[in-house]
Amino acid sequence: MALARITVGDVEIVALSDGEGARPASWMFPNNAVSALDTYRDLLTADGDVVLNFGCYLLRADGQTVLVDAGNGPERGGPLLEQLAEAGVGPDAIDLVLFTHLHGDHTGWNIDRETGRARFSRARYLVPRIDFDHYTAAGSASVARDIAPLANLGALDLIEGERVLTPSLTTLPTPGHTPGHTGLVVTSQGARALVIGDAFVSRVSLAEPDWPVAADWNAEVAARTRHALLGRAARDEALVALSHFPAPGLGRFDGAHWAAI
Ligand SMILES: [Zn+2]
Repeated sequence: MALARITVGDVEIVALSDGEGARPASWMFPNNAVSALDTYRDLLTADGDVVLNFGCYLLRADGQTVLVDAGNGPERGGPLLEQLAEAGVGPDAIDLVLFTHLHGDHTGWNIDRETGRARFSRARYLVPRIDFDHYTAAGSASVARDIAPLANLGALDLIEGERVLTPSLTTLPTPGHTPGHTGLVVTSQGARALVIGDAFVSRVSLAEPDWPVAADWNAEVAARTRHALLGRAARDEALVALSHFPAPGLGRFDGAHWAAI
């Protein structure tokens, strides 16, 4: 299947996937009775699972090639590298790799495990400082494997706040899923998009933004961020890209519903 591409003004966004997984909805939304989840049966599999795409996004903006998130990596055998090739982008063509956060399903392809070198050899790797500090202190295995070597290689830039990456691309703190979770705001020719990682992991959270999500670092902060993003996307009439929504994870918030495109 051809890769999904959209344009936002002069910026091109290509949706990539590093495969698919599933988690029981009863695990993902632990504070809710099964009867409450039943309302959202049509968003789940017959077994009551939430299907998770492992989405990454390739942006071409202002002459820069930017990869947002780097998938699960070689253990799960996902197709991210093949899809990058299909998009016409070799590993050495990427200028910036931005991580929405430092969970291992977003950092997996960073390092060539055979050589220990940075796989995206020319790229600066942009990592939210708050996540770097938090998960380094916590002894995260995936940060030790996928991120710490980049610091030794001098390829890592720790970022904070709203940071202008190119004239069309600015980062946006979106904490809650992790303490340093960071989105990307695309603005070009009056059009906007929000690339917001795991701020919403399931479509259920669009209808129930206050429901705690099992993988979130802080339920209250995550809920506040979801409300803020729902408001912002509506105001800006923004396209939205979400890592774990059904592939390609591109669409718009339509009230409590997801309008995929
Ligand atoms: Zn994730």
